[in-house]
Amino acid sequence: MPSTSHPLQLVNVTLEYPDGDGTIKALDSVNLAVQAGEITSLVGPSGSGKSSLLAAAATLVRPTHGLVLIDGADATGLGDKDLTALRREKIGIIFQQPNLLPSLTAAEQLIIGDHLRGKSVKAARAKAAEMLDVVGLGSSAAKRPHQLSGGQRQRVNIARALMGNPKVLLVDEPTAALDHERSYSIIRLLRRVTDDFMVATVMVTHDTEFVPLTDSVATMRDGKLTPMLTTV
Ligand code: ADP
Ligand code: MG
Repeated sequence: MPSTSHPLQLVNVTLEYPDGDGTIKALDSVNLAVQAGEITSLVGPSGSGKSSLLAAAATLVRPTHGLVLIDGADATGLGDKDLTALRREKIGIIFQQPNLLPSLTAAEQLIIGDHLRGKSVKAARAKAAEMLDVVGLGSSAAKRPHQLSGGQRQRVNIARALMGNPKVLLVDEPTAALDHERSYSIIRLLRRVTDDFMVATVMVTHDTEFVPLTDSVATMRDGKLTPMLTTV
C-alpha cells in the first residue's frame, strides 16, 4: 500500500546479478517500510545484501522484481533522467568513505549539488552555511578535505546529503573508518537530523552497540530481510 507517511517502501524487491552461467540473488523478496523521522538499522554478515538493499532504495540499481516507492511513488518504471532528478530531490546518500572533492572547500562541496538542482548561487551559499552549522562545522566552511579530520569529513558528507531536503537518507557503514567516540557522535548526529528534518533513514551498521539509538533493526541474510526487534 503506497503511503506518504512511509517515505521509503520496498515491496517484494528481488535483485539478481549475473553470476557465471546463472544469477545470484542479492535481494530475495525484501519488504521494508520506513517512516518519516525513523531510523532503521540494517545488520548482517558481509555479502548478505545490505549494500544492495541501499542501492535499490537509492534507485541506483533497478530491481529484477518488486517496487521501490519513494515518497509514495514507484521509481522502478522511471527512465534514467527522471531517476537522476528523483535522487537529487528526494534521496540523500552517505557512504562509508566520504568522497569529497580534494580541491573544494567544505561549503563548495555542498554548493555544487544545489547548482545541479538549479538553485541560485546565493541561495545555495546560505543553505550550505546553514547545513554546516547543523553538523557542527559552521567555522570550517572554508576548509578543504585534507584540513579536516575523518569525523569532520563524514559530517560534511552528511551536510551535503541533506542539502536537497531529502525525504529518504541511506547510510552505508558511516563509522567504519572512525574510532569509537567519533563513531558515537556521528550516529547521534544522524539521529538528530533524522528527527529534525523528518527523513526516513536506513543505516547499515556492523556496530550493534549503536542500534539502541535507532528505532528498529532488521537483519539481512542471503538476501532475505528479517525484522528483529523494535527498540522503542
Ligand atoms: P553486503 O553489503 O551485505 O556485504 P552486498 O549487497 O554488497 O552485501 O552483496 C550481496 C551479494 O551480491 C554478494 O554475493 C555480492 O557478491 C553480490 N553483488 C553485489 N554487487 C554486485 C554486482 N555489482 N555484480 C554482481 N554481484 C554483486
Ligand atoms: Mg556492504
